[in-house]
Amino acid sequence: MIRGITKRWMLNTLSVIFTIIVLIVVSLILIVTYVFQNSVETQLNAACNELSLVFSGYTSDSYNDFTSAARDYVENFDQKEKMGVMVINPAGRVVITSTGFVPSESEKMPDFEDAKKRKDGYAFWSGKLSSGEPAMSETRVITNENDAIVGAIRYIVSMEPINSRILLADSAIILIGVIMLTLVVISGLLFIRSIVKPIRRLSETAAQIAQGDFSASEKIEHKYDDEIGDLCKAVSNMAKDLQTTEQMKNDFISRVSHELRTPLTAIKGWAETMQLSERGTLDRRTFDRGMSVIIKESARLTGIVEELLDFGRIQSGRMVLINEKMDILAEFDETIYMLKERASEAGVHLLYDEDDSIYPPIYGDRNRLRQVFINVLDNAIKYTPKGGVVAAQVIYSKDEPDVIKIVVTDSGCGIAPEDLPRVKEKFYKANQKVGGSGIGLAVADEIMNLHHGSLNIESGVGVGTTVTLTFPIYKEGQEKQMPENQNIKL
Ligand code: ADP
Repeated sequence: MIRGITKRWMLNTLSVIFTIIVLIVVSLILIVTYVFQNSVETQLNAACNELSLVFSGYTSDSYNDFTSAARDYVENFDQKEKMGVMVINPAGRVVITSTGFVPSESEKMPDFEDAKKRKDGYAFWSGKLSSGEPAMSETRVITNENDAIVGAIRYIVSMEPINSRILLADSAIILIGVIMLTLVVISGLLFIRSIVKPIRRLSETAAQIAQGDFSASEKIEHKYDDEIGDLCKAVSNMAKDLQTTEQMKNDFISRVSHELRTPLTAIKGWAETMQLSERGTLDRRTFDRGMSVIIKESARLTGIVEELLDFGRIQSGRMVLINEKMDILAEFDETIYMLKERASEAGVHLLYDEDDSIYPPIYGDRNRLRQVFINVLDNAIKYTPKGGVVAAQVIYSKDEPDVIKIVVTDSGCGIAPEDLPRVKEKFYKANQKVGGSGIGLAVADEIMNLHHGSLNIESGVGVGTTVTLTFPIYKEGQEKQMPENQNIKL
């Protein structure tokens, strides 16, 4: 069954082309028929017209003069091959013919009858002879000076050879029409095949990709350099992206599982040590160490779970922001204070000059912004080796009075240029050696966007990384533009 694009093409385009070709063929047939018939008429007319020169000036009793002049005329008639000529007496009987064959009296001559009645003395006839042969004839009556008929000359042409020529020309026209239509159908079907076939294959491949068989995209042929080619490229890129995302997701799950297992192992190990050791035999130092490991690792677990919960909320659009006018400097000071110990544990110098200035407020959710600061500072510490430096600064300059910037620079491993554009994507980790889920920056970037701010990263491998957070300062009426309880969609 014909369906899809082929059916649409047949209904829309082919039917129009078919109609046009049929119209052209019919018009050409009509034109050819007219031209052939008209040429016969013209010949008959031309012959009749010259008669006025031959037969003229007859007196009332000049029938005999006419007959002898007509005989001369018929004998010397030079178009005998094209047409027959006959001389008719006033009684309507054929007296002389160029063929020598006198038609029977029953043979009707409507043009002669008409010519007698007409003022100009001409009449034309087209029809079939009593023998069934198609013919065309024209008669001109010859009158004397008293307008009495002295006779008539009738030219007659058999239409049989002309009709067979018309038939031949018509057949050629129809044949050309059929050939044209066949060519249109063949080229159209080939063209449609070149579209439908790859699309059909592509939709099969897409179905396989949807089932999770990403290798199916390798079978996509890149034969065409057009829209179909673009579609093939788009599907194969989509498959690659899906595969990467799938891979990143799987890595993410195994990474998170690993991250959860490490503190759990430490907690379990210390708890078992404390339980197994006989009461009172565990010295105070070991007990304190065990407890601090348990507390620290539990806090780490809580952090990971919080991050996962946040990510879950973001994915499902359930995260709400509680916005208010806030002092960003105070919030950042506190975060630095919180992370000082973590930096010194990691052997990283955290440089930050506390600033007593009072900056204009911004409008945002303090907890979520603190989360952004922690993520950025934590990354800076995490990706900076022992002995390295992390420097943080809050900038409010007169040159840019509408924004407050927080700049965190580290002297860590840096990010390769090919990874830099992707580090803000969810699950993306450029550095697989250091722990982390790969969702921190994605969450931070989204939170910054929601505050109408931005998170920019500049980095060079071996040089270090600079993260700049830009916040617009609070403007009167901003509450209306940034309503509370916004949902974040990642
Ligand atoms: P992660 O949990 O892996 O730190 P993030 O989303 O916070 O995930 O960061 C994504 C990736 O960006 C990291 O895996 C790391 O490769 C890179 N990155 C982020 N911050 C820094 C930094 N300060 N120095 C070097 N690399 C960084």
